[in-house]
Amino acid sequence: MSGTLRAMPSQQTAAPNPWESLPDELRARGMRWTPQRRTLIDVLSRADGHLTGAELVDRCRDADPTTTPSTVYRTLDVLEDLGLIRHAHGPAGREEFHVLPTTDHGHLHCSSCGGSWELDASEAAGLVRELHRGRGFQVSLSHVTVVGRCADCVASGPRQRA
Ligand SMILES: [Zn+2]
Ligand SMILES: [Zn+2]
Ligand SMILES: [Zn+2]
Repeated sequence: MSGTLRAMPSQQTAAPNPWESLPDELRARGMRWTPQRRTLIDVLSRADGHLTGAELVDRCRDADPTTTPSTVYRTLDVLEDLGLIRHAHGPAGREEFHVLPTTDHGHLHCSSCGGSWELDASEAAGLVRELHRGRGFQVSLSHVTVVGRCADCVASGPRQRA
């Protein structure tokens, strides 16, 4: 994908509601459109940024205490197949979900302050190109998680070693 990847306002045209056809998509996969799934979609459509599966389960339970984690996780798998969410991995390997991903991106995590930032395709292009040229390896950018120290933390002095 090419073009400008910096966060853009999330819409230019009145796009159709991406969740609208979901009940049909689920039925086509032999899954019922249940109140639990509707709750999950409500939670996702109001979500911002990255959420772990456990956070999604918690939010669903706030709205519907009967929510079962297995339903949430199974539904998340299908939603990812449909391109409505995309998972990445946090610094500890935990899955984090991005809602309605617009561009493929990796993540930077600062181990000093705990901050995280999106890594653009353009920023990762050198690595992606080299790995493809040198090893024939095709990088999944959404799985690129780089842990290090951010500029602010570097500027504030040497890391204290535990
Ligand atoms: Zn993964
Ligand atoms: Zn930092
Ligand atoms: Zn992300």
